[in-house]
Amino acid sequence: MHLRTAVEALTAPLAKVAASSTVITVRCPFCRENDDKVVDSRAGDDGATIRRRRECLACGRRFTTYERVDEHGLVVRKRDDTREPFDRDKLRNGIERAASGRLDEHALEALASEIEEQLRAEGGEVGSDRIGVTVLEQLRGVDHVAYLRFASVYKGFEDLADFEREVGELQKTTAPKRR
Ligand SMILES: [Zn+2]
Repeated sequence: MHLRTAVEALTAPLAKVAASSTVITVRCPFCRENDDKVVDSRAGDDGATIRRRRECLACGRRFTTYERVDEHGLVVRKRDDTREPFDRDKLRNGIERAASGRLDEHALEALASEIEEQLRAEGGEVGSDRIGVTVLEQLRGVDHVAYLRFASVYKGFEDLADFEREVGELQKTTAPKRR
């Protein structure tokens, strides 16, 4: 069992966590600095989360993070057949690049969480292509521009025709349903 790959900052949804196995840095939701000290830690009621009260060393404000112990350790199988632990930050960054200027922090977080949950529900090991498809499926329902941007990178679009084909597909799948 390795400790947390997923951190939910429930009372501070903007707190961003970059994790390694032992050191956890959290971005202050108020001033965005990532220098803080933990002022209180306690186990959550379910025993699977650790609640930490943190104080930002830059602005002095306090916020709370909830760290979830990840018992299942989702593993990603890459195209070259190597494996690495699932990295939520990487997923979020990928979505963020495609959704730049389109989705706000809350929408990004919600999307990343939804995708992470889906992948974890599928179990222990997941192919990187499966992650890409899941992101596409979710983005399609949220924002078509972000979807096309992500698709262009993920599917390796080379010219306008690729975009046109994809837009055609989008229009088909999102056309109003006939009753
Ligand atoms: Zn701060």
